[in-house]
Amino acid sequence: MHGYDLLVVGSANADLVIRVDRRPAAGETVLGSDVATHPGGKGANQAVAAARLGADTVLLARVGDDAHGRLLADSLGAAGVDTTGILAGGAPTGVALITVDPSGDNSIVVSPGANARLSVEDVRGAGELLAAARVVSLQLEIPIDTVTAAVGAATAAGSRVVLNPSPPAPLPAEVLAACDPLVVNEHEARFLLGADAGDTPEDWASALLVQGPRSVVVTMGAAGALVADPSGALRIPSPSVEAVDTTGAGDAFTGALAWRLGTGDDLETAVRFAVRVGAAAVTKAGAQASFPTLEEVTAAI
Ligand code: ADP
Repeated sequence: MHGYDLLVVGSANADLVIRVDRRPAAGETVLGSDVATHPGGKGANQAVAAARLGADTVLLARVGDDAHGRLLADSLGAAGVDTTGILAGGAPTGVALITVDPSGDNSIVVSPGANARLSVEDVRGAGELLAAARVVSLQLEIPIDTVTAAVGAATAAGSRVVLNPSPPAPLPAEVLAACDPLVVNEHEARFLLGADAGDTPEDWASALLVQGPRSVVVTMGAAGALVADPSGALRIPSPSVEAVDTTGAGDAFTGALAWRLGTGDDLETAVRFAVRVGAAAVTKAGAQASFPTLEEVTAAI
């Protein structure tokens, strides 16, 4: 059977972006720019980040049987993602309606649509994909029961599980216990830890390790990332770059990290690579549009 470096189980959205002079107040109508349609969703973003680096990547996701769904499947295929696991139907494709004002502030409405219909049944039907991937990477833009089923199937198949709990939500103990690593930013760490989180990435990582994951990675924006397991913690600085747009940096980081783990890197080596990918991604506008090729990572940073 075909083996994959990486299976991403997660969301695929159409991001519809309109620039406005002013974001509308309640009851108000404003005119905006032409709509720009960008492929997005954290699952699709991670899969594209890995595929652009050369990873053999497959995405398990659900889109609608509609024009946005076909657009997403086409763009994922063009980016080099294996689309065998993209299911269609059940609800319209997930959409993020984004208005951006001249200062860069935005208002976003997300309709999860088909992402919310990616089911435990779908995971069962994708047993072959789950068994064929060395690493399975997940986020939380799909139902938590689906995440839990995929984590269980991945663990049973001997695959390594990478999880970014975004948007943050409580995690079942068996999901936490399988993560190697759990990848969080400050916001996600504080959500999972509650009031006694502590103040530093080292505090968060050691408190999160008590919750059960085998390892933890804390991303720290321009400062890079902290990698921690029960034997200790290490800060890995990010290359210094001119940041243009940080959208999608976390997804680029996690996609790259998960891929390198799938090729056999140890966690520290994989994080050293992933911070370079995250840094490269912030030097360009957009999310998927900003993700670097392997040549760009090696040449530029
Ligand atoms: P998230 O988008 O999930 O909050 P971060 O902002 O921590 O995640 O970014 C993820 C990774 O991208 C960081 O660990 C770092 O490697 C890289 N990165 C993000 N912002 C910058 C920046 N301004 N300069 C250099 N690297 C960055």
